[in-house]
Amino acid sequence: MCGIVAYIGPKEAYPILVKGLKRLEYRGYDSAGIALLNGDLSILKKEGKVSILEQFAADKDKHGTIGIGHTRWATHGVPCDRNAHPHLSNSGNLAIIHNGIIENYGALKTELEGRGYTFTSDTDTEVLLNLIEDIQKAENTSIEEAVRIALNEVVGAYAIVVIDKREPNKLVAARKGSPLVIGVGKDEFYVASDASPIIEYTKHVVYLNDEEFAVLNRNGVLDIKTLGNIQKSPYIQKLEMDLEKIEKGGYEHFMLKEIYEQPQVVLDCMRGRMNAEQGWIKLGGVSEFAGRINNAKRIIITACGTSWHSGLIAEYLIEELARIPVEVEYASEFRYRNPIVNEKDVLLAISQSGETADTLSAIQIAKDRQALIYGICNVIGSSIARASHAGSYTHAGPEIGVASTKAFTAQVTILTLMALQLAQSQGTISQSRLRQVLYEMETIPDKIRGALKTNDVIKEIAAKYKDAKNFLYLGRGLNFPIALEGALKLKEISYIHAEGYPAAEMKHGPIALIDENMPVVFIATNMSAHEKIVSNIQEVKARKGKIIAIVNEGDTIIKALADEVIEIPETDELLSPLVSIVPLQLLSYHIALMRGCNVDQPRNLAKSVTVE
Ligand code: GLU
Repeated sequence: MCGIVAYIGPKEAYPILVKGLKRLEYRGYDSAGIALLNGDLSILKKEGKVSILEQFAADKDKHGTIGIGHTRWATHGVPCDRNAHPHLSNSGNLAIIHNGIIENYGALKTELEGRGYTFTSDTDTEVLLNLIEDIQKAENTSIEEAVRIALNEVVGAYAIVVIDKREPNKLVAARKGSPLVIGVGKDEFYVASDASPIIEYTKHVVYLNDEEFAVLNRNGVLDIKTLGNIQKSPYIQKLEMDLEKIEKGGYEHFMLKEIYEQPQVVLDCMRGRMNAEQGWIKLGGVSEFAGRINNAKRIIITACGTSWHSGLIAEYLIEELARIPVEVEYASEFRYRNPIVNEKDVLLAISQSGETADTLSAIQIAKDRQALIYGICNVIGSSIARASHAGSYTHAGPEIGVASTKAFTAQVTILTLMALQLAQSQGTISQSRLRQVLYEMETIPDKIRGALKTNDVIKEIAAKYKDAKNFLYLGRGLNFPIALEGALKLKEISYIHAEGYPAAEMKHGPIALIDENMPVVFIATNMSAHEKIVSNIQEVKARKGKIIAIVNEGDTIIKALADEVIEIPETDELLSPLVSIVPLQLLSYHIALMRGCNVDQPRNLAKSVTVE
């Protein structure tokens, strides 16, 4: 995920591009870059945030009334100057910015190398650009036609803008799967990933559809066609939104936006890593170190906060599926307790930011004792990614809301794939069961969408219980870590005291807290423990506790007992955490909002915990 912005018209492009990039920085900040066309193409790009690019550009020539800008969230190649966008084609005639992933870039690159092309970056983007150039030369055609032909050859997701220095009066933009909006001014056009860089100049916008491309001409003509070369008439819409909202993609808060991004995040996380029909899973890092991971005496999972909860889910999954012993440790405890670790262990470190100080120290200890380190983080090129021997990125895109939501589901997705891959190589899962789970995995984005539809019901429940002083969250099996995570979400953003427990543990203490003022959230989607959880619900009911139950659609038994029910789509029990967390995120969001709390930046917390 990244931010792209472009301008063509009578004004100087640089200030517009820089300002736009700053607005889009929430989408990625690995590097920033700008290309300006003023006779020649000049490229200014730097690793790091837009402010670093600005300093770098301070004494450079920045004239030009046509230009493109990019703020990167690296997917192919570490964040560095060389991999920063815009990229130049081999001839130096073309420049590109790109948001997304070209999945067949490897094959295309080999083909282009065979034809003499060379590459200065590790990105998929540079491959796409040289493919465009190659087609332009071979077909002796316009830039827009070359873009069209090239995009018919690529597999993947993109929003791109291309400049040809020999055609200084046009920009070519296209999209599939990544967002792109065109701002229409007087004899000028803007292009951006969302409308935030555009809105102060014009309220008239055209949203490009998937598999459409646009030629933005300096004379004010906007030409839109499909990749099949069918002419479209631009549908110009008026923006009614204010700036702040647009930066959040129309959502009131980043947290809500991120909750709603989860179907896409899970899809992105699975993409290219599994195939249900063929029955395979391939997490790069796991395949690379297959020998050591398969022969591991045990897997130690270390993490903090929400990531620790995803670690607990992994413990259930890996032990159940792959029969490898797993321990889950708080990184802050592990690092100070002289743990027994050796070369037969695998340490799985999980962190959204990849910068969590305690987790980094835990890694160091295990590394010193010769364990294999496997990192799972969201931020490409982060310290944990660099400190690990192997790993997987969660590809959830930048998470801005401090309370983690989509990064959690992405972690659970990766960890589920990992457990299945290990089970396959350990021979502890049959091929038919594996394929069954993988097919079910493909339905998860839709099932999350189904869970998101409970938003209105949840809002009503939130209004009833927002003034409670305490909450208890209970679940069994894989729903126990979900109970912990649900309670953490509520604590983090609403400041209500909440505890998560295994449902059966309630009798060993917390039951003393239950009275008519205590809401108890049961995560009751786990059918293998259905009767048991029904008994736990009865126990709470007998003590007048208020029962809020998350159940599978059509669960009439619990519906008859609970004060409130939230019905979500049923899935394979192994995958249920990916769906059952969603209503809990929404519940904490609405309660916090109704209590007037700052949902995105809760007090005392920070996004990336780089201190111990
Ligand atoms: N795949 C491209 C890269 O790694 C673009 C990533 C992005 O969307 O920022 O450079």
